[in-house]
Amino acid sequence: MNQEILDKAEQLINYTNGNICNHCLGRKFSDCVDGNGNEERGIKIREALNLEPYAPNESNREKCAVCHDLFEDIDTKVLDLVREKIEFLNVEFDTFVVGCKLPKEIVEKDQEISDEFDCNVEIIKKEVNREIGKMLEANLEQKADFDGEDVLVMVDFRRILNEGQENPIRVRLQINPIFIEGRYRKLIRGIPQTKWPCTKCKGKGCEECNFTGKQYPESVEELLSEVVLKHANGYEAKFHGAGREDIDVRMLGTGRPFVLEIKEPKIRKIDFDKISEEVSQTAKGKTEYLNLKFTERKRKVEIKGSSPDTYKVYRALVKCEDDIKEEDLEKLQSLHIIQQRTPIRVSHRRADKIREKEVKNIEAKFIDSKTFEMIIKTEGGLYIKELISSDEGRSNPSVSEVLGTQAICAELDVIEVGIK
Ligand SMILES: [Zn+2]
Ligand SMILES: [Zn+2]
Repeated sequence: MNQEILDKAEQLINYTNGNICNHCLGRKFSDCVDGNGNEERGIKIREALNLEPYAPNESNREKCAVCHDLFEDIDTKVLDLVREKIEFLNVEFDTFVVGCKLPKEIVEKDQEISDEFDCNVEIIKKEVNREIGKMLEANLEQKADFDGEDVLVMVDFRRILNEGQENPIRVRLQINPIFIEGRYRKLIRGIPQTKWPCTKCKGKGCEECNFTGKQYPESVEELLSEVVLKHANGYEAKFHGAGREDIDVRMLGTGRPFVLEIKEPKIRKIDFDKISEEVSQTAKGKTEYLNLKFTERKRKVEIKGSSPDTYKVYRALVKCEDDIKEEDLEKLQSLHIIQQRTPIRVSHRRADKIREKEVKNIEAKFIDSKTFEMIIKTEGGLYIKELISSDEGRSNPSVSEVLGTQAICAELDVIEVGIK
């Protein structure tokens, strides 16, 4: 330690009337004094200046002018508070990160000293977070890990300067969600993809909905999420599908990709085999969920936003007003680029504009003079019911137009959803 450093350290100690703890002293010299942590740096500096060791617990002693001996509390009080919270919530996790909230006076004093003595070092908050992290790692089974943070341990010191405060330090655990990815198949018509609040009471519960608050008793979301929530002991589930089909449309084939988000799971290590087994019982004959696995948060956005590059394959049962002949179905091959104005049935929630969408392939199978089946592969976002009916001329060209008779979609199934 050169004389310049020692002089500066002496001035700094005098600036605080000798009331500066080893952490706060060492921190201001973390860029020029070697040491394993700021506390050790502070001890070395005091030794080099032949000063008495810092003794925070001595009676009549004033507290550290910067941190009010907050670092002492980390070793003596924070661990018990964190343990209490873990026990109270009964939460299981492997990794955590630490955050803290400090009184304004402490943050400002720390900055004031850095400015006064021209120290270009880390702020006190960073050291507090690190010291809590080290202490918890040494005493808990869990690891501090910024990448795999299951839980955020937030330690609030903002009340430590208030005399007589009952609980000066408070701890909150923020449990991060888990994300589960898979594909679903909807085997019957009449089930919405997500929970649908009763249109009359908006979910509060009324006579109309039998006090369930729901328009439909079950959904693709709930048939899965109720089982997962139970296993994960979670607070709430959110379902993110790669698009959605209408309630009266089945979802067959390889299924539609989705991400299920479970908020505040007290148990993160859930057994997908057990869940699949349970769901296959409760959702039997209604829905199926394939390839369930853990996934990252970013997949939620990727799956929800997948649309420009995607394609969809549908099976439609088409009914015609006038008789058609089998060879008439050849005319369907002329459907290629479709100008489609926003359908009347969704115009209340989507902007009214004309979209151009591509039909990639059509295969039609004649059933009788008024009925045929159509397998159609299209660019994502093309409305199939309207492509068939023409939606009063809003879809152009349409099945009705090329066949020269009013056609309607009697049944629709999605059989493939392509995503990036
Ligand atoms: Zn201090
Ligand atoms: Zn209701």
